[in-house]
Amino acid sequence: MELIKSSISPMRTRGRNKLVLLFLIAVVLPSSVLIVLTWHMIGQEQELHQKRLADERRRVARAIGQRLLVHLEEIKLLEVSALASGAKSLNILEYTRPEVILIGLADKERLLLPWEANQTNDRLSHIPSNTALFEKIRRAEDEEFVRRRLARANTLYLECIEEAQQPAQQAYARLLRARVLAKLDEVDESLAEYRKILAVSSEVTDEHGVPLCLYAAVSLIERGDSYEEVMQLVLSELNAQRWLSPVESYIVRDLVKVLVESGPELGIRRQVAEDCQQRILEYIRRQEQALALQKDFAKLALIAQWEGPEQETEFTWIAYGEDFWLVSLAPALPGRQRLAIVVQGDSILDSITANIPDSEMILANVRFTTGAGPDGESLGPSFPGLRLAYTTDGQASPLGDWGLQRSFYLIALFLVLCVTLFGAYFLWRDVGRELQMAEMRSQFIASVSHELKTPLTAIRIFAETLRMGRLKDSQAKREYLDTIVNESHRLTRLLNNVLDFSKIEKGNRTYRREQACLSEIVQAAVQATQYPLKQQDFHLNVNMEDDLPDISVDRDAIGQAILNLLSNAMKYSGESRQIDLRVQKRAGHAVIEVTDQGIGIDPAEQKRIFEKFYRVPSEENERIPGTGLGLALVFHIVKAHNGHVELRSLLGKGSTFSIHLPLENKR
Ligand code: ADP
Repeated sequence: MELIKSSISPMRTRGRNKLVLLFLIAVVLPSSVLIVLTWHMIGQEQELHQKRLADERRRVARAIGQRLLVHLEEIKLLEVSALASGAKSLNILEYTRPEVILIGLADKERLLLPWEANQTNDRLSHIPSNTALFEKIRRAEDEEFVRRRLARANTLYLECIEEAQQPAQQAYARLLRARVLAKLDEVDESLAEYRKILAVSSEVTDEHGVPLCLYAAVSLIERGDSYEEVMQLVLSELNAQRWLSPVESYIVRDLVKVLVESGPELGIRRQVAEDCQQRILEYIRRQEQALALQKDFAKLALIAQWEGPEQETEFTWIAYGEDFWLVSLAPALPGRQRLAIVVQGDSILDSITANIPDSEMILANVRFTTGAGPDGESLGPSFPGLRLAYTTDGQASPLGDWGLQRSFYLIALFLVLCVTLFGAYFLWRDVGRELQMAEMRSQFIASVSHELKTPLTAIRIFAETLRMGRLKDSQAKREYLDTIVNESHRLTRLLNNVLDFSKIEKGNRTYRREQACLSEIVQAAVQATQYPLKQQDFHLNVNMEDDLPDISVDRDAIGQAILNLLSNAMKYSGESRQIDLRVQKRAGHAVIEVTDQGIGIDPAEQKRIFEKFYRVPSEENERIPGTGLGLALVFHIVKAHNGHVELRSLLGKGSTFSIHLPLENKR
């Protein structure tokens, strides 16, 4: 028995190990390989996608560069020809194309900004130094500042005003007189002079290009006079469509500031003044960047190429400043220096991206960058230092959305894993059952061998003792012979069980039914158990109804079923020695009940004990020999007779197995 027990545990462990190994090989290994492969594939696909995207971006950047160059050169050509034809002057705010910010004159060292370029030509009206008027002004200034004879100075300035030939000379003399009148506290007269200057055209400027009327405006507004006229002057300055010189623009800014702050009290519309303020501040911002460009002009890469062939220099555009200007050189106009043309980069990019084909939708998310960072693609040799950066990664890419592709891969992987796990569950369950069955079979073989060996040994020993003829006592002889007969019966029963089971398994177990008296069958079974009952001191209480009818059954099969139940009652009785056998009629059935007061059966096990080879896996049970076939046979035999088996059992209290056979049995 110990042998059986010890051989079972390693068998179970081996079975479980085999199952785990199988699970590892069939499920875990392929799944892991699948996950690793998919992951690897996703990585590779992503790398490939990035590479393709980078190539595409490079290609698109080049294409944009070319398109941009064509566009910019077109603009350049247009502006140069407008200037050459004289249709436009250099000092204007709005050139032929709206993208153009300014056009200046360039030489190797210096960029001449629009307001400087025009100064020499048409703005300044000097008073020639060799004239009598110049001499008189000098004398008047001498009286005003050196001799401090202000009244005298005033008379002289008045004469100058009368003698002046040109409006500019006259306005200049008036400005000086107004100043001296203010010093003389002749406020009204001084203001009258300033008002007159205010009316003079802004073409009349001093040597810095500042219109004289602006000086008058400053003086007037300081004294709280002529707000409306000053407002008009500011508006005409802003609408003049020409660049103001820096001094001019700062004066205008200060005038506007006063107009915004105190103008509304004097009838100036705040909204108009505020608009003017915004315009002048915007203008100054632009002018300051232009001044910065002038300062940096010599350092720009444009100049490095100055010595090169004109063609090469011309097609180079350099990005400059926070406002993102693009600067390039144009051929010189006849008799002039080269032109430097500055355009607004952002509006150019907008006009280019507005016409891009769908295939280059990638452009929807680009911007120009000029920093030293690694991001962005070069736009080609015409735009040194300028790159195209993609603001969103891969979005709206013509190569498709990588995020979507990756999700697809991951979902596919997830589904495959789900299916694998599902399959694995069934595999685990079925293989587990198979292994359990195999284990039960081995256990069965071990039990059968053991059960065969015990009666055979007894038969051999008793038979050999009898053959030697040493036994004289006839009573003893008889007991020996009884034992031999009974052990042979036990052997026969065991073999019958095994053979029957084998037939059932093969499907060729047949039952020969005939009308038989049930009490006779039960009696025969009781008779057959007499010897072991007596040997083990069992008391079998048989209780049979008198008028049991004949019943159509296979005598041997039903007898075998009753014997199996009685034999189990003896095996699993524990300390108890009482067994009850009752046969009665109940609800059209003949009921054969075998009751013991033994170890009982756990409710959880009550269904399974009718399965082939199944034995309740308790320690107590393992010590009792058995094959796990007895109840499986009972179940099969009774079912073949259209009956059923019932079980009532309490753990530790005993069990009642009852065979129910229909009295009217159909074949
Ligand atoms: P075995 O050869 O093991 O007795 P059976 O098919 O006859 O095989 O019984 C199956 C299992 O049912 C037994 O191993 C035992 O655990 C349980 N069993 C059967 N009859 C009884 C009973 N009268 N009392 C307690 N347990 C029983």
